[in-house]
Amino acid sequence: MRKLRVALAALMFAAIVFFFCDFTGIGADYLGFTVRCQFVPAIMRASLLTVAILVLLTVLFGRIYCSVICPLGILQDIVSHLASLRKKLRFAYRRGKTLIRAVVLLIFIGLMAGGLCAWGALIEPYGMFGRIAANLFAPCYRWGNNLLADWSQKAGNTLFYRVEILASGAALAAVVLVILVFLAWRWGRFYCNTICPVGTFLGLLSRGALVRPRIDKSRCNKCGKCARICKASCINSSEQKIDADRCVVCLNCTTQCPQKAIAYRFPSKIDGPREASKQAAAGEKAGEPSKGEV
Ligand code: SF4
Ligand code: SF4
Ligand code: SF4
Repeated sequence: MRKLRVALAALMFAAIVFFFCDFTGIGADYLGFTVRCQFVPAIMRASLLTVAILVLLTVLFGRIYCSVICPLGILQDIVSHLASLRKKLRFAYRRGKTLIRAVVLLIFIGLMAGGLCAWGALIEPYGMFGRIAANLFAPCYRWGNNLLADWSQKAGNTLFYRVEILASGAALAAVVLVILVFLAWRWGRFYCNTICPVGTFLGLLSRGALVRPRIDKSRCNKCGKCARICKASCINSSEQKIDADRCVVCLNCTTQCPQKAIAYRFPSKIDGPREASKQAAAGEKAGEPSKGEV
């Protein structure tokens, strides 16, 4: 599962970066869906179907959007992964910043509702990534293309041609990128679970996600290894709890547990009476016996 998640995220990231960098029209023709499925652009376009699909995906499977679809999240994962090459188990459980998250979400909603979208884009993930991609990645891509064009023309080849390099917002994009890289290098998904308004909204939905990382308390020996690899700092290993609100479904924890006690799964009787009774109630509603009655 984790390998599949990483592969999908890598494909999504490459496609979105190419969409922003491409000047031939191929990206716009074939990769427009990568932008259309982003949360804030979908709301801005009033694309109810896209929003409904993303909401349903989150309610069922947790913040998959944050691990596979959002390019800003994937960019932070790349930085965090590079930092983890030096020290793999580098995180620790932290309490959620509920008040800050709520205030930022309300400010964001106020800005968007008040028509101040340019201000909202300063803290919203797609606007931030778009600024970085269009003003930093794309100029580098074009610069590389122009080098190839010069070289190929000298060799009598016209396969590449020079293009204009535009980077009017590079300074602001560079500031945003430096801050983001610093936060991801130091604290993993800190931006996602402290500032991002989309992450806060999706976190509310994912609290009761049907499928999510769960700890089998009968197997867990509270060693804390899962908490130290969790880039969202949302695993409280001493209490054997995972804060589903902040979990970005990276699935790193599921491959690290020496007891095989943590897995991305449906609820079951091993999760205790609360989850078991929920499951039993669901079974009775459907007119079926619960597992415990079989
Ligand atoms: S929390 Fe925000 S920035 Fe982070 S992955 Fe989710 S949507 Fe993207
Ligand atoms: S790594 Fe496994 S055994 Fe250790 S605290 Fe986490 S769930 Fe428990
Ligand atoms: S709980 Fe597991 S899946 Fe969720 S963010 Fe932490 S390491 Fe990733």
